[in-house]
Amino acid sequence: MSGVGSLRTEDAADRLDEYHPGGTHLWSPDAPIALGWHPYNQCSLWTCKACDGAFLRYTEYGGYYQDERIRPLMADLIVAPDARP
Ligand SMILES: [Zn+2]
Repeated sequence: MSGVGSLRTEDAADRLDEYHPGGTHLWSPDAPIALGWHPYNQCSLWTCKACDGAFLRYTEYGGYYQDERIRPLMADLIVAPDARP
């Protein structure tokens, strides 16, 4: 995979709120990809050279672990709700 860019936005970088109007949770396959909301404000965008797919990568930092999470970027899940609820 190769990196394309970051979805990180300076004004929302520390935000921990998630956006789940439909009752989804963090890594539900159908969770909205809410720009400016956690964890997408910490994601970077990557593309796969083999299949041309786009992926979001997010590294979760726990007390004693570091977890790499990847999810496919599905265009119809991208939403940009108001950054301040
Ligand atoms: Zn691929």
